[in-house]
Amino acid sequence: MFRFAQHDKKSILRNFSKLLKTGISKLNTQNNISFTVIGGGQEIGANCFHLNINGTGIILDAGLHPQKKGNDALPNFAALKNLDSDFVLISHAHTDHIGALPYLIQQFAYLKIFATPQTRDLAEVMLHNSLALTQKEIADSDPLPKYTHEQVDLLTESFNVIKYNEPLPIQGYRHFSNEDIHVTFLDAGHILGAAGILLQTNGAKIFYTGDTNTSKQSILAGADYPKEPVDVLILETTSASSDTNIKRQDEAKRLAKSINKIVENGGSILIPVFALGKLQETLKLLHNLMRKGSIPELDIYTGGMGREISDIYDIHRYNTTQINKDARLKDIPQLPIDYEELLSAKYFKVPSIVLASSGMMFEGTTSFALAQRWLKEKNFGIFFVGYVTPDSPGYTILNSKTGDIIELGETSGKIKVASDVENFRLTSHSNRDDLITLVKTLKPKTVILIHGEQNGIDWMEKELSDRFPSIKIIKPRIGENYPIDTN
Ligand SMILES: [Zn+2]
Repeated sequence: MFRFAQHDKKSILRNFSKLLKTGISKLNTQNNISFTVIGGGQEIGANCFHLNINGTGIILDAGLHPQKKGNDALPNFAALKNLDSDFVLISHAHTDHIGALPYLIQQFAYLKIFATPQTRDLAEVMLHNSLALTQKEIADSDPLPKYTHEQVDLLTESFNVIKYNEPLPIQGYRHFSNEDIHVTFLDAGHILGAAGILLQTNGAKIFYTGDTNTSKQSILAGADYPKEPVDVLILETTSASSDTNIKRQDEAKRLAKSINKIVENGGSILIPVFALGKLQETLKLLHNLMRKGSIPELDIYTGGMGREISDIYDIHRYNTTQINKDARLKDIPQLPIDYEELLSAKYFKVPSIVLASSGMMFEGTTSFALAQRWLKEKNFGIFFVGYVTPDSPGYTILNSKTGDIIELGETSGKIKVASDVENFRLTSHSNRDDLITLVKTLKPKTVILIHGEQNGIDWMEKELSDRFPSIKIIKPRIGENYPIDTN
C-alpha cells in the first residue's frame, strides 16, 4: 500500500494550498461586469441604469420621465426582476434622476441608498413636490402607485450620506470576489450636490458622469474628475445635440443687452427656470450683472419651492465648491411670486424680471400660465437659459417669432406672439467639446453613451470612433444586458 511519508504529506498540502491560492488570486483578478439600461438610455428620460460588478448589483439613479404621465413615466423596473440589486447610488436630485425612487423602494424595499448630504436635503424638497404633482394626475388611465408624504420622510431619512472624495467600500449579498467595490462621489458641477460616481475594484475603474458640467457657472465651480484613466466611462450627452463654441461670459453679456432693450421699452422679462439649479444660478447671474451696472436694479420675482432650494444652497455653501462661499442667495433682494394675483401683478406694469418654473413651461406650471399673457405683450421678453425638450410648450415658444400664431396645449387656445423670444446658452451641462476632452483625458476602453437626444448620441458615437478608434462604444438599448470587459 502506498502511503505518504509525513514530510511528503506536508509538502503536498503546502503545494496544494499554494495551488489553491494561486487559483483564487487568479480568479480574483478577473472581473465580471455587466451593464443594463432600466430607463433613459437613448433619450433624456427616466434615468436608471444597472451595473453588476462581481455579483454586486448597483442601480445608478431612479428618475421620472419629464414629459410622460402615469406608469409610462417610470423606468422599466420589470427589467430589475432578473437582476441582483443591492444598492442605489443617486447622482443628483433632479427629478429625471430621483423622481422614481419612491416607486423603486416600494418594489425593492431592501435596497440601500447612497447620496451626497446636499442631494439628501434637496431630495426631501423635490420628492415632496413631485408627490404633490404626480398625485394630481391620479385621473390618468394608468396612474402611478400611491405613496404618502410620511413615506417620503422615511425614505429620505433612510439615505446613507456619502461625502465628496471619501471612498466607501461596499459588497452586495452575492458578491463573489474578495475585493470590495470602492465607491467615490466626485463633484459634478451641474447643480448643488451633483456627483460623478467612481467605482473601483480589482484594478477595474468605472466612472458614471451623472449630469456633468466642466465649466464654472455663477455659483458652482466646474466638475472634478478621476485623476487616473478609467476602464469604462458612462457618459451623459444632454448637450451633444447642439454645436456650440459659445462662451458663457459672451452669453451673459448678450443677456444683459437684451434685458436692457426690453426694459428701455417699458417691458418685463420672463425667464422659465427649473426650481433646482437653474433658478439659483440665474438669480446669481442677474445679481452680478446688476452689481456691475450691466443692467439696472430691477425687481426680481422668485417662487416658493425655488426659495426653499436656495436656502439649501446657502446652508451647504461651505462644504461645496462654490465660487464665493460668503455670498448667500437669501441676501439677493427678491419679491415672492403671488400665485393669487399671477396675471395681474406689478410686473405687468413696472419693468421686472420673473424667474418662474418650470423651465420647459409644462402645462399647469407658473411659467406656462404667465407665458399665455406674456406672449401677447409687445415689448415684453421671454428668455430661455437652459435645456428645453422637444414637444414641450417651452420648445414651441422658443421656436416661435413675433407674428406667429402658436398653441401651447389643450387649455391655451391660439396665441399670436407679440413678445420677444430669445435663447441664451447658459447651460449646466458640459458641451460637445468638453465631453470629448473628458474622453481624451480619462482614456476609457469602453464608453457607454446615455442621457441624450438620439442625434446627439449618434453625433458623439461618430466623433468618438473617428478620433479614438480603439475605444469600444456602446449605445445601450433598454433591458438589454451588455457584458463589459475590463480584464
Ligand atoms: Zn440634472
